[in-house]
Amino acid sequence: NSISTNKESEYISSVIPGWFSEISPMWPGEAHSLKVEKILFQGKSEYQNVMVFQSSTYGNVLVLDGVIQLTERDECAYQEMIVHLPLCSIPNPKKVLVIGGGDGGVLREVSRHSTVEQIDICEIDKMVVDVSEQFFPHVSIGYKDPRVTLHIGDGVAFLKAVPEGTYDAIIVDSSDPIGPAQELFEKPFFESVAKALRPGGVICTQAESIWLHMHIIEDIVANCRQIFKGSVNYAWTSVPTYPSGVIGFMLCSTEGPPVDFKHPVNPIESDDGHCKSNGPLKFYNKEMHAAAFCLPSFAKKVIESK
Ligand code: SAM
Repeated sequence: NSISTNKESEYISSVIPGWFSEISPMWPGEAHSLKVEKILFQGKSEYQNVMVFQSSTYGNVLVLDGVIQLTERDECAYQEMIVHLPLCSIPNPKKVLVIGGGDGGVLREVSRHSTVEQIDICEIDKMVVDVSEQFFPHVSIGYKDPRVTLHIGDGVAFLKAVPEGTYDAIIVDSSDPIGPAQELFEKPFFESVAKALRPGGVICTQAESIWLHMHIIEDIVANCRQIFKGSVNYAWTSVPTYPSGVIGFMLCSTEGPPVDFKHPVNPIESDDGHCKSNGPLKFYNKEMHAAAFCLPSFAKKVIESK
């Protein structure tokens, strides 16, 4: 009541001048905003609008088709979890495939694992790779690892051509299911993933927000239960600049040596000696790993019923 009516109206503005507001039908009725210091890049690729701006509190920000993909400040919460949740859950991962993830952050995290011999990445949009190299050096550093091979192309087509049983782990670091990433959320894609994995191999895929997208999550879980005959789990992490502030992952294994994602067998900690140039882990540790699988009751009920 201490705020007068006049003052209140100052807080109400759908698009605040000088701020980036993330408006999308994927999260109707809400829009997170960041103050823009400077627009660094704006372009249109064959697939999407690409923008980079310098924010006042989250460092440089990558935006694709109006949706924030990463900020320098909180990208660790996403990249470290999407990689170490699956790779710490299996012994001796050797061959890893990344679909999407053109910024290179997932590669940076995979490269912390010394047992890994081969890291393939299939990103559809070369502009994302180039922009990351120019404006996100601490993220694109992932490409410096000699084990990395970059393929520019559609992840769906790439996977269809992969010989059966090739990979120990496949990490799908995709954008939302509107635009080029749509097929990465559909059943035929998960079928190709399962085929491309060795017995007891694992997938970790970006699986949206429990606050906003339970309907999408329900479909992903139902498809995965049909396709992955090992284990099927949902985990989540907090990323302040993603819609609703959280993002989930679907973690599944194929039939074969059992994988218990909740009890990792291949620990990695920040004092690990590998890849010092990548800097220390900022977010992931074994407690965060275990906690990621604890779900609020409303989400647990739906996910377990599928
Ligand atoms: N790594 C990220 C982070 O920190 O949140 C963000 C997501 S990443 C930038 C998502 C990438 O998936 C985009 O670069 C997009 O071009 C790519 N992508 C979308 N559809 C794809 C497809 N069908 N095949 C391969 N890559 C795709």
